[in-house]
Amino acid sequence: MQQKLKMSIGNDSKLIDNCNRHLNYLRISITDRCNLQCRYCGPQELIPKLSHTDILTYEEILRVVRVATRLGVSKVRVTGGEPLVRKGVYEFLRELVASEGLKDVSLTTNGVLLNDNLEKIQAAGISRINISLDTLNRSKYHDITGFDEFERVWRGIEKAYRMGFYPIKLNIVALRGINDEEFVEMARLSFRYPFHVRFIEYMPIGQADFNPESHLLVPEIKDRISVLGNLVPVQEAAHDGPAQRYRYPDAKGEVGFIPALSQHFCNTCNRLRLTASGQLRPCLLSDHQENLKKALREKGSDQELAEIFITAVNHKPSDHNLVPQKPAHICGQMRAIGG
Ligand code: SAM
Repeated sequence: MQQKLKMSIGNDSKLIDNCNRHLNYLRISITDRCNLQCRYCGPQELIPKLSHTDILTYEEILRVVRVATRLGVSKVRVTGGEPLVRKGVYEFLRELVASEGLKDVSLTTNGVLLNDNLEKIQAAGISRINISLDTLNRSKYHDITGFDEFERVWRGIEKAYRMGFYPIKLNIVALRGINDEEFVEMARLSFRYPFHVRFIEYMPIGQADFNPESHLLVPEIKDRISVLGNLVPVQEAAHDGPAQRYRYPDAKGEVGFIPALSQHFCNTCNRLRLTASGQLRPCLLSDHQENLKKALREKGSDQELAEIFITAVNHKPSDHNLVPQKPAHICGQMRAIGG
């Protein structure tokens, strides 16, 4: 059912799409720049960098968030590019956390800058962090990311743990022939630490000049790490994402799976994405986007911004149709859209 474009924003507004999904989660990419060059995430030389004026200012992002919360968005994740490379990010996080109507603000980072900045992240009021870590091996880390930063990242993860950040989610993109030998070791981390170790199916999108030998899907990953014990399902909680959550008996942490290809979770997808350049995308795997930046810079009213949200919501596809054999040739890159 199409929503009326003239809906006015108010305290009980909700973004409900044509498939009756309630979109209350906004992922915000605050920059397309990254201090790593992960092989699967889109080669930097192929993607022109956005200029300073192309990306939304923090004030513009906060205005978008204000409108979004009045439309029922209550959960925000800050991502990138690498969010921690953007100047002024800690003050921005503080203001974001203070936004009225937001119940959950979290951060996704590659962890390179964590160790030196955790105090500022904590002071901003963030306790939930996702850290991307595809390997526990220093030379493999260099091979995947192009940089010798494994030890710095690991120091940051341990410090975050000591400082009481919770949950700390470690995101591993499953890459056959690259990191699959380490899955058991990574799952074993959930015995030593209360981390949520999450295996993500590699999504063939954009221009990544990278072809894994073949896709490694969740059933195979589960099978491989079952040598450590029975995986017991964990009860889902409010604000849970698409991860299927499990725990080994006696483990401190959890193991999760994100079956982006093998088991589409589109029917429960509650996400919208704001790109660094101010485009609102209703689906990671579709090029449809609505131009919020134009409205912001042409002094559009809150009502006009709200109508752009509603148009985006009305264009959310029912399913992304991505299968292992069929890459999605979307123009955007994870780096600019925010994975
Ligand atoms: N720089 C931050 C980081 O590394 O976490 C945030 C941005 S990064 C694009 C967000 C997540 O997207 C990372 O966990 C990364 O591994 C994941 N990602 C990037 N390309 C992917 C792909 N083709 N398939 C699955 N996940 C991907």
